[in-house]
Amino acid sequence: MSNYRAETKCIQSGWIPKRGEPRILPIIQSTTFKYDTTDEMGRLFDLEDSGYFYTRVQNPTNDAVAAKIADLEGGVAAVLTSSGQAANFYAVANICEAGDHIVAAATIYGGTHNLFYSTLKKMGISCTFVDADADEQTIAAAFQPNTKVLFAETIANPALVILDIEKFARIAHAHQVPLIVDNTFATPINCRPFEWGADIVVHSTTKYMDGHAMQVGGAIVDSGNFDWDACGGKYSGLTEPDESYHGIVYTKKFGKKAYITKATVQLMRDLGAIPSPMNSFLLNVGLETLALRVERHCYNAGRIAEYLNAHEKVSHVNYAGLPGDKYHALAQKYMPKGTCGVISFELKGGREAAVRFMDSLKLAAIVTHVADARTGVLHPASHTHRQMNDEQLKAAGVSPGMIRLSVGIENVEDLLADLEQALENA
Ligand SMILES: *Cc1c(COP(=O)(O)O)cnc(C)c1O
Repeated sequence: MSNYRAETKCIQSGWIPKRGEPRILPIIQSTTFKYDTTDEMGRLFDLEDSGYFYTRVQNPTNDAVAAKIADLEGGVAAVLTSSGQAANFYAVANICEAGDHIVAAATIYGGTHNLFYSTLKKMGISCTFVDADADEQTIAAAFQPNTKVLFAETIANPALVILDIEKFARIAHAHQVPLIVDNTFATPINCRPFEWGADIVVHSTTKYMDGHAMQVGGAIVDSGNFDWDACGGKYSGLTEPDESYHGIVYTKKFGKKAYITKATVQLMRDLGAIPSPMNSFLLNVGLETLALRVERHCYNAGRIAEYLNAHEKVSHVNYAGLPGDKYHALAQKYMPKGTCGVISFELKGGREAAVRFMDSLKLAAIVTHVADARTGVLHPASHTHRQMNDEQLKAAGVSPGMIRLSVGIENVEDLLADLEQALENA
């Protein structure tokens, strides 16, 4: 499907039925798969044959949806996970172990920040957070001999910082380290990070890809471009024998799919954060309209950003689609069709006004969620980023009065009217 355009891939990629098979992706709600001989099954366990045997490792419904996402991103393969958090964890854990170090943009999503700052530290993997806007030398100074990953988000949630992907890819590659990019907010409709040098893409499919708030899920996509063998034994998990598979070497046996195969057959086998086939089916329904929805999200958000920007009670609006935004030029380069439907802004009345405003909204619901067909609103300092102290909040690009508005695909005039009446009360 790789020569088709994104809108076509959203509909047609992934499940491609053969003669007499169901037109719609079937939900293979089965833990297990049957074989005729002992030897056949044994060969699957040794990765000598490919085939399904247990859904924790692979399932046809999950794989079809993973293939669609890989196709949309232009990668060689993908694996689905049970959440975006699991995708981020696996993406790092696949190539890092105790004693290793990663470098990440400070503005990443609060959940990922917690994972890197707190949980990975307990597992012996340390993280240095960098200002994504800093110059190459400053970011490079965070690298250590044991650094294995550079991590950032194309559009940071909720700071809405647009990543200079080429800059990050240059820094990563100068240190023989892969660049992992969380592309949740931009989606492959608006940006394809592999085209700018990213090596691995991760997603919380819970957001725009699903788009209807029906399932929590994640995906890891491999570009196949990173040369693990060229890094002098640094990625030994990929380039040296895996004892748990009778000594296979992933780069030798699976070539460009080494990284994603290891994540599937080793991390999924051992840690098991798989989505249920039912959830993958729901995700696939969402993906079919992704291109349409993203276009409308961006149109509505653009109109609302302009409205808020001109409003007397609003002190500041972050939306890279606005010509005056700090990240407008980067957005024009990396995502010329649009950024996303999420806007953050600040009221002159600060935290108290933010609370009054949010409590007055009628259409926009207060939800811990973004990137849904329904408009939602959240106060990061008291919700998603609650664990952070003021200094960490500042580094994450979150101020105490910041409101994060996730603009849905309702009629924009109705949304504007809702904002208008809530601002009157703010
Ligand atoms: C939501 C989100 C995550 C975490 O995803 P879950 O599916 O909620 O686990 C990771 N990264 C970004 C950018 C997100 O918006």
